[in-house]
Amino acid sequence: MPNGSPKKVPMPEQAPEIRNQNFEEVSLGYTAEMAREEAERCLNCKHRPCVSGCPVNVAIPDFIARIREGDFSGAYDVIAQTNALPSICGRVCPQESQCESKCVRGLKGEPVGIGRLERFVADYHRAHGGAAVAPPQKNGHKVAVIGAGPSGLTCAGDLAKLGYDVTVFEAFHAPGGVLVYGIPEFRLPKSIVAEEIRSLEAAGVHMMTDMVIGRVLSLDELTEMGFEAVFIGTGAGLPMFMGIEGESLLGVYSANEYLTRINLMKAYREEYDTPIKKSRAVAVVGGGNVAMDAARCAKRLGAEKVFIVYRRSAEEMPARQEEVHHAKEEGIEFRLLTNPTRILGDENGRVNGMECVEMELGEPDESGRRRPVEKAGSEFVLDVDTVVVAIGTSPNPLIRSTTKGLETNRKGCFIVNDSMETTRDGVYAGGDAVTGAATIILAMGAGKKAAAAIHEKLSGIEKQR
Ligand code: FAD
Ligand code: SF4
Repeated sequence: MPNGSPKKVPMPEQAPEIRNQNFEEVSLGYTAEMAREEAERCLNCKHRPCVSGCPVNVAIPDFIARIREGDFSGAYDVIAQTNALPSICGRVCPQESQCESKCVRGLKGEPVGIGRLERFVADYHRAHGGAAVAPPQKNGHKVAVIGAGPSGLTCAGDLAKLGYDVTVFEAFHAPGGVLVYGIPEFRLPKSIVAEEIRSLEAAGVHMMTDMVIGRVLSLDELTEMGFEAVFIGTGAGLPMFMGIEGESLLGVYSANEYLTRINLMKAYREEYDTPIKKSRAVAVVGGGNVAMDAARCAKRLGAEKVFIVYRRSAEEMPARQEEVHHAKEEGIEFRLLTNPTRILGDENGRVNGMECVEMELGEPDESGRRRPVEKAGSEFVLDVDTVVVAIGTSPNPLIRSTTKGLETNRKGCFIVNDSMETTRDGVYAGGDAVTGAATIILAMGAGKKAAAAIHEKLSGIEKQR
């Protein structure tokens, strides 16, 4: 029976007052019955507008049709043709601005819950043990991937499927990039990321961790080691600061450092001794997903008060609506149109309040968003003992500064052509290292495109041999 409901089948979730005290996953996932009911909302449109909204071109109506028929393994096979990390995308892709924004059901009501269905299918596949696929025969070409985030992992997975001997060099002690060091456990359980990585390893990808390229080995040395092409997927992990007084006080963190301590170094678990401040009141400065994650972590670590301090209004906030909604439900207070001007310290150099000023919106700036301007006489002090700065990141300059011929733009992002090749022959780049901080699926799309270009180049060389 087609499902004419204007609303998605609701997603079961942990109650806000329980989940804001633990790091367990917030959304619990559809049951098989819920998934089939939601799949019945899909109209199987002839022109497939949803597919055009997916950067990796998942055949959305086809996998949803399989769910409707109860063929969940078949649904997985459809997704896996183009998406190497479905359990991850089903959880943290911003579907509302991608596939779901194009869904015709969204014209009168809510779009089909494509992300929820993708998550269901990927979780079903993990729970029911999909058949292991034997690695393909090697084709004799070696490719190096720098960075084990979504762009690097996707590039590596696609090349391994084509028979390339792929080695991923990762600076941290664990692969996954932002998926493991940034996004918290309660949004993306790390066991899921580990399993996706295991399946890449099973497909023949070698992972080398604790390998900071530019320090341990240079890019030139990789070439000397016989890697015929290199993909750089090093992300944009260098934090920006506000440049105001007090940013070097004890109790001020960049969001990256705060989240890395909590997620990668497990500061929230008793049995780990990673130091992290036990805060009473935390101000998180910024309005993106990173700010929401830091604020929700601070609450779970026991802070009585957690504020999001954002200088524009709710409409300009770049965070996903779902994350803002979850943060509000969990008790995070939003101080919008508010700008920090100074962080105050006590006699021991510890944070002891943050001076702020209220803002109002003026004329649009170059980004098209209305420029916030200070409201005269509106200064006040926010009573906090911790400040987390989440106002953006940029690419780390290490590889560029240790490699000749690699050009970047004024934001430090690698310059690439249509094939994702940098200004150096045989060296490709993609993901946040090229775009600046963006999304997982865009990083994956870039990794895919680079893998196809590397294959084209190296198989072309093969033909000439
Ligand atoms: P990254 O994921 O940053 O991975 C880069 C990897 O390269 C890292 O592992 C790094 O250690 C490694 N590396 C860096 N330099 C070197 C070197 N010299 N040698 C070797 N390795 C190196 N996007 C979404 O779509 N949905 C979300 O909900 C979402 N939430 C986010 C929450 C947070 C807290 C953050 C920080 C980002 C979030 N994003 C989200 C953005 C998304 O995670 C990124 O756009 C995406 O991870 C970029 O992928 P990437 O492969 O380019 O880089
Ligand atoms: Fe189904 Fe929406 Fe895609 Fe149409 S646009 S095929 S309704 S998911």
